[in-house]
This record gives sequence, structure tokens and C-alpha cells, in this order.
Amino acid sequence: MEAITHNLIAVIIQILCFRYLLFPLNIIFTIFFAYLSHLFVDVLSKLTYHTPDVQKDDKFWVIWHVIIYSVSILSIVILIVPYWIGILFANIIDIWDWFILRPLQSKKAKSGNNPNWGQKWYLHKHADWIGETFFGWLPNWKYKYFGVIIEVILIILLSIIIIIIL
Ligand SMILES: [Zn+2]
Repeated sequence: MEAITHNLIAVIIQILCFRYLLFPLNIIFTIFFAYLSHLFVDVLSKLTYHTPDVQKDDKFWVIWHVIIYSVSILSIVILIVPYWIGILFANIIDIWDWFILRPLQSKKAKSGNNPNWGQKWYLHKHADWIGETFFGWLPNWKYKYFGVIIEVILIILLSIIIIIIL
């Protein structure tokens, strides 16, 4: 799913951990559950509009991504203080796989190394494993436009939960 969904779940996790646990368990459990939440949220992203590839020629894809990236950045700006621990660890799998490992891999491939270099270090493999092992029965709506409605409903629900528990 999108960064804003990961962020909102991270905020809920951090609020609850910091409310009910003492130091240092509040920090340890925030990190643990935020990390774990990314895997499960990514498994559920099968139910939302989530094309694995960029679709620049598709107007719907472009408009949706302009909106969802904007609100994702906005959510980070609003929530980073004081929820940076949760947000960081709920996104660390994407940061590692997309912004560190993938550029490194293409750099290595360009300089003549094995193009499969680093393949085993992708953290999303764990999400794929959970998805295939336990959630293979979920429908795949990654290319269905109506998948955005599911994500929007989820974002609204998570926001309401945050307002209630804050
Ligand atoms: Zn991810």
C-alpha cells in the first residue's frame, strides 16, 4: 500500500506502545510492530490499486499517484514529530529495498557484475512469503481502479482511530 497507510498504522502502534509500555519496551515494541506492520500491509496491498510497474500513459494512474504521493508527504510532515520512530521503521523495508538496494544493484549491473547481485537481501521477499503462504486466497486487484476506494476507506478509518485514541 501507499506510504500514508504505512504511516498512519505506525502512528497508532507508537501511540499504543508509548501509552501502555514503559521505557525501553515502548521503543522496542514500536520498532518491532512497525516493522511487522509493513509486511502485513504490503500483503493486503493486493486488495488495492497497486500496479508493480509505472504506467505513465494511464491518466488515472498519474492522477492517483500525484494525489497519494502528496498526501503521503503531507502525512510525514504532520506526523514525523513525535512519531518518527514508528514512521521510520514502518517504512524501512521500502527505504532499504527501493532507495538503497535497488540503485546499488543497478549500479553493480552496469559495471558488469552479476545482475542478480543482492537479490537475496530484498526485505520484501518476506512479505511475498507471508502473502503466498497465508493469503494466497485473497483476490488480486492490483490493476483494478476500484482498489483506490479500498485504500481511501482504510486511510479514513485509520485517521478516525488516531483521532479517537489521541
Ligand atoms: Zn513495501
